[in-house]
Amino acid sequence: MFMAVESTLPTPVRTPASEKDAKALQFIEEMTKNVDSVQERVLREILGRNAETEYLKRFSLNGATDRETFKSRIPVVTYEDIQPEIQRIANGDKSPIFSVHPISEFLTSSGTSAGERKLMPTIHEELDRRQLLYSLLMPVMNLYVPGLDKGKGLYFLFVKAETKTPGGLLARPVLTSYYNSDHFKTRPYDPFNVYTSPNEAILCVDSFQSMYAQMLCGLIMRDEVRRVGAVFASGLLRAIHFLQNNWKQLAHDIATGTLNPKITDAPVRECMRKILKPNPELAQLVTIECYEENWECIIKRIWPRTKYLDVIVTGAMAPYIPTLEYYSGGLPMACTMYASSECYFGLNLNPMCKPSEVTYTIMPNMAYFEFLPHGSSTSCLVDLADVEVGKEYELILTTYAGLCRYRVGDILRVTGFHNAAPQFRFIRRKNVLLSIESDKTDEAELQNAIENASLLLKEFNTSVVEYTSYADTKQIPGHYVIYWELLVKDSAIAPTDDVLNRCCLQMEESLNSVYRQSRVADNSIGPLEIRVVENGTFEELMDYAISRGGSINQYKVPRCVSFTPIMELLNSRVVSKHFSPDLPHWTPERRR
Ligand code: AMP
Repeated sequence: MFMAVESTLPTPVRTPASEKDAKALQFIEEMTKNVDSVQERVLREILGRNAETEYLKRFSLNGATDRETFKSRIPVVTYEDIQPEIQRIANGDKSPIFSVHPISEFLTSSGTSAGERKLMPTIHEELDRRQLLYSLLMPVMNLYVPGLDKGKGLYFLFVKAETKTPGGLLARPVLTSYYNSDHFKTRPYDPFNVYTSPNEAILCVDSFQSMYAQMLCGLIMRDEVRRVGAVFASGLLRAIHFLQNNWKQLAHDIATGTLNPKITDAPVRECMRKILKPNPELAQLVTIECYEENWECIIKRIWPRTKYLDVIVTGAMAPYIPTLEYYSGGLPMACTMYASSECYFGLNLNPMCKPSEVTYTIMPNMAYFEFLPHGSSTSCLVDLADVEVGKEYELILTTYAGLCRYRVGDILRVTGFHNAAPQFRFIRRKNVLLSIESDKTDEAELQNAIENASLLLKEFNTSVVEYTSYADTKQIPGHYVIYWELLVKDSAIAPTDDVLNRCCLQMEESLNSVYRQSRVADNSIGPLEIRVVENGTFEELMDYAISRGGSINQYKVPRCVSFTPIMELLNSRVVSKHFSPDLPHWTPERRR
């Protein structure tokens, strides 16, 4: 039976595309209408099943499963607070510390602690919860974009290196875990979720070979492509950059029906053998489109039937919007979901809205959510059903895998409600100064990197008197730009270009492992740049801030800038530019 969609969903253009979709939409309605009772049930389930864990016993919960007791006894924590327990699990302690269900693996978050990725314990059944959230995305999208079952999605999806903890548990990113699961690999056929990329290409750990095969398939199946995407905007731009660098070889493969010998991965070669047939006409088309200097609208030109881009452009990804608009010729960008290694949170119920209007509706069945009003003490936590429109909150999480009142670090603003479920705008990640893709560099890390690099200046009797930074995402890949004002005490021995280049590398060596992995393994961040500015520039910066009403007493040098007039001022005072001459060190193994 087809059910008409409820009027509460935001201006859908169509009725559900199938009975399966109708069920999914009904589920969303039920969850969002009953937020508070679902949350109460979720907390009861989590506390009930984990009553005998070391963690809950430590706080004398004594089997209580109600909110009041939970809130009065269990502290709000950060990753650092629970790191000793996480380390014990990583070292092989199998006792029920956080969860009575065995920890199946660690998910490596892009957030870092002491320079290394955070390890998030997870349990097997969380895969079902993640899949449940995924299963809601297309039914919503189908309300807005008809005909997606008539074609395919060109999605650039990647897995990353896996490691094992000393105790033998796998540690890998959440998407690597998901793509390697049977939930993904043996998913049943669904006409609305057919991808151009074969599993073999997605699961190839070599990022060049994976991207090459996925791009080749996307080109071969160009007429079928209805949507183009990647998880984050930075990933899609990387794919376009890859096409810029590799179109000649790709066109050659298409013309001849042979595969680039650089693709050596046996499963990828085998599956490409079946897909690749000589097609000189298509090769010529690719050549004509890519040969031009002008890459404006390239996505529409190569994949003319694309209806939208499926990429996250909220939060740290917002700076990529203009570049994506340029390459796509203004295709709509759909931000469909909001998720993390700790938990998948929710989805965008109006996915074709403008990027600036994106809101996410947290699904109350995913975990127990609390909200810390921004700037308040941890005694003032509010429940999901009780947040207020217009206010900003930090997200606090209690998961089935055993995280209890855990601070995710995301700041969200309530913009409205869908039924009883609040809808949130992603505002920012706490304490993140610089980010190009999944890297998150905070002020302390930047400061430490600058201190380490400036040690190289000592023998030149030079010091860094002021600095600020900027995430340059205009080029692909993006890179960190650090503005330095130097005090050169003896100009006869001023640091040379070579020394300043090495300062760039030294900074990179000091940055966290996510940054270094992006530089080394993923090539998704370019060499760090130092721009030396004239003496007095930072004083001018202060004058500017004061002229705009800032207080002299309270003025602090912004450690990251993006405001155009400030950028213009800094750039007009640059005396020299220096780039990292090499790659920093990175291995999948953790440093500690
Ligand atoms: P990770 O732990 O590496 O999986 O990163 C999760 C973090 O990525 C979240 O806590 C957010 O800060 C950010 N993130 C995830 N989804 C979105 C989104 N849709 N919009 C903005 N930021 C997001």
